[in-house]
Amino acid sequence: MARKLENAARLIVRSEMTLALTGAGISVESGIPDFRSAGGLWERFDPGEYATVEAFRADPEKVWNMFREMEVLVLQAKPNKAHQGLGKLEKMGYLHTIITQNIDNLHQAGGARNVIEYHGNFATLLCPACGKRFGAEEKKVENPPRCVCRQILKPDVVLFGEAIPRSALNRSFQLASSARTLMVIGTSAAVSPANTIPAVAKENGAKIIEINQERTHLTDSITDIFLEGSAGEIVERLVSVINEKRDSHSSIPSI
Ligand code: NAD
Repeated sequence: MARKLENAARLIVRSEMTLALTGAGISVESGIPDFRSAGGLWERFDPGEYATVEAFRADPEKVWNMFREMEVLVLQAKPNKAHQGLGKLEKMGYLHTIITQNIDNLHQAGGARNVIEYHGNFATLLCPACGKRFGAEEKKVENPPRCVCRQILKPDVVLFGEAIPRSALNRSFQLASSARTLMVIGTSAAVSPANTIPAVAKENGAKIIEINQERTHLTDSITDIFLEGSAGEIVERLVSVINEKRDSHSSIPSI
């Protein structure tokens, strides 16, 4: 692992543009379960039944039962070592942008400024009828929360079956095409179209560093360096190796 961390650090220090693509796994250590976590929210609320736009249209009050539980987890969650480590890398000038599939705001809370929210953010609610937006906090006690026009509000997140916001989609693919290094952290890369970002980066010559507790379909296909373990621990170690090496690029061994 030490050797792999050195090689990953070398790639990042020498890379003209590094991006991170993150998924639910990076926030598991902050107490928000991913789709695989045992005993969590998603065992009671099947994402296929609750996290689709069709489900919301058919029965928004039912889907709000899931949103309320997610909201409690998201509002009380604090950034972990992985979010903070990426925030540090950005400040050090080694990370250009984070593209996150998460809706929990934890990258920004962890100090990152350049964050593309591919699937939106839970902090605001949108009226599907008139387009008015509200802060989630101000509507916390209303169940289900309603717009002034009486329509039930929807969190400003992308449910399965909905389109990705155009600016997030375009900017992500544009950046992926010019990245030299892409860190893929805590994602099963199963959700489309976010899961095509690693291939776009790779086809355009980027090196792929994958950080995950388990292997994914990317690991044996396009990943160059697989760092196996918890995102918090691995990102923290990676940042400390980069810190040690930043002033002496040549001392980092070649892959
Ligand atoms: P996923 O649940 O499909 O996969 C999570 C991945 O993270 C898995 O590969 C797992 O092995 C890995 N993982 C779990 N814990 C980890 C840890 N501590 N360290 C490193 N890796 C870890 O998640 P996904 O690929 O992001 O796709 C799920 C979709 O659900 C996304 O589109 C996302 O928008 C949404 N979602 C978001 C949140 C959130 O905002 N925190 C939470 C759940 C789901």
